[in-house]
Amino acid sequence: MQIQQIPITSTDIANETLKDKHLSAILTALQNGTDLRAIGYKGREAEYSMADGCLTLGQRVVIPPKFRQRLLEDLHVAHIGIVKMKGLARSLIYWPSIDEDIERIAKCCEPCLNNAKMPPKTRSHHWEYPSVCWDRIHVDYADFLGKNILIVVDAYSKWMNVAITNSTTAKATCDVLEGMFSLYGIPTVVVSDNGPQFSSSVFKEFLRIQGVRFHKTSAVHHPSTNGQAERGVQTLKRALKSAGATPNNLQHFINAFLLQYHKSPHQTTGKPPSVLFLGRVIRSRLDLLKPDLQRRMSEQKITNYSGNVRSFDPGDRVMYRSFAQGVESWKPGVVANKNGDLHYEVRSDTGQMFRRHIDQVIRASLPKKSVSLADEPVARPITPRTSIRSPVDSPQSSQAHNASKPSRESMTAQPRASWTQQTPASPPRQLPSEAPAPAAPARRYSLRARKPITYPE
Ligand SMILES: [Zn+2]
Repeated sequence: MQIQQIPITSTDIANETLKDKHLSAILTALQNGTDLRAIGYKGREAEYSMADGCLTLGQRVVIPPKFRQRLLEDLHVAHIGIVKMKGLARSLIYWPSIDEDIERIAKCCEPCLNNAKMPPKTRSHHWEYPSVCWDRIHVDYADFLGKNILIVVDAYSKWMNVAITNSTTAKATCDVLEGMFSLYGIPTVVVSDNGPQFSSSVFKEFLRIQGVRFHKTSAVHHPSTNGQAERGVQTLKRALKSAGATPNNLQHFINAFLLQYHKSPHQTTGKPPSVLFLGRVIRSRLDLLKPDLQRRMSEQKITNYSGNVRSFDPGDRVMYRSFAQGVESWKPGVVANKNGDLHYEVRSDTGQMFRRHIDQVIRASLPKKSVSLADEPVARPITPRTSIRSPVDSPQSSQAHNASKPSRESMTAQPRASWTQQTPASPPRQLPSEAPAPAAPARRYSLRARKPITYPE
C-alpha cells in the first residue's frame, strides 16, 4: 500500500527541483532576484517564490514531476473524495495540473465518486448548528467484514471517533463512550438511531448518570435524523473497502482514514475537523514536504539564545580572555574584526591580535588609559582635542588622547591632518600593523588607538 512508502521530505523536493530543468531555471531566476514575469513566466508560475531550496506557491510546495504520482497516491490513500483531496492539496502542494490529476484519479475510483456525489444535506434532518465542539454527538454502528465499528461524530467540527468493538451490546457501547467522554467531556446531546443497544435502559441510564442532558433518537421511518453519523459510516466503509482493508489490518486503515479525514477541509464547514476540534491543523507525513522555515528560524533563535544574543562591532572596547603564560585572565582590548557571529579578532591593548570566541569576550567600558599602562614606553603628550570632546573618561576621549600622540602618526605614516579627521569607519589597515614584533610598541599603540576614535565633528 502506498502508505507504507517512505514519505517525501522537503529535502527530496529541493534536490529534485534542482534536477528538473524547468523548475531549476525558475529557482535560479528567483535566487538572482529576477522578476519571473519580466522573463516571460506567466500565470501561477510567475507567482512562485522559494523557500529552503524548494519552489513555493503561497503556502504550497511546488512538486517536481518525479514525485507527483506518488503524492497523488498519498492524497488518495483514504479515498476521501475529489473535493476533500483538492482541499487537502490546496494547503500543501502544487503543480500546474494538480486539480485535473486529482479529478482523473478520483474519477476512476468508485468510493471517491460516491463521496463526491453525496449531497451533504438533502436528506438530513435539520439540526441546529451547535455553538461549541462536542456539544452534540451522533453515534452509530457499522459492520464491516464481520467487525463492529462504533462511529461517533461531533456535530460542530465533524470530528470523528471510531472504535472497533467486540460486540454491539449496550454495555460494550457504554464502555467505549465512557472512554471518549473521559477525553473530551460529556456532551449535552447524544443522537442515535433506534438500534437495540441505544434503546435499552442500560444505555439511557448510562447517559443520565454521565450527565448527558438529551438523548435523541431518529424518528421511526426517518432514519436520516442521525444522518451525520450515517454519512460518517458510509464514508468510512467505502474508504475501507476500496483501500482493501481486511479484518487483520482494519485498525490500521481506520487510522489512516481518520488522519486524512481530520486534516482535510470538510464540505459542510469548509474547515478541517481538526481545526475546529483541536484548534490546529494536524500534521501528517505530507507536511514533510513543506520547508520547515518556522522551526529553522526558532532553532536559530535558540542557538542565539545559548550565548549569542551578545555581539560586538569592530572598535568596541572589550575584555578578552587571555591565556598568556598559561594563566587565564581578562585583558583589555578592542574588537578588530568580526568573523561570523561567534568569532572575533581582538586587538589587545599591547597591540597583539587574538582570535576569540564570543564567550571569551565581554564588553568593557574601560578607559583606554588603562591600556597604555601595559606597554607604553612612549611619552603621552595629551592633545587638547580630548578635553574639548568630553570631560568624562569615556573610551573615546581616552582614545582621542592616544590618537594624538606624535609617536603614532609617524609610525603609521599617516599625515596628521587626515588622522584627525578619520572616522572610526576606517580601521582596515590596522590589522597588518598588529603583526609586527613587539619591538615597536609605540607604533602598535597608535594603531590600536586610532581605530575607535570618533570625532563627533
Ligand atoms: Zn478513491
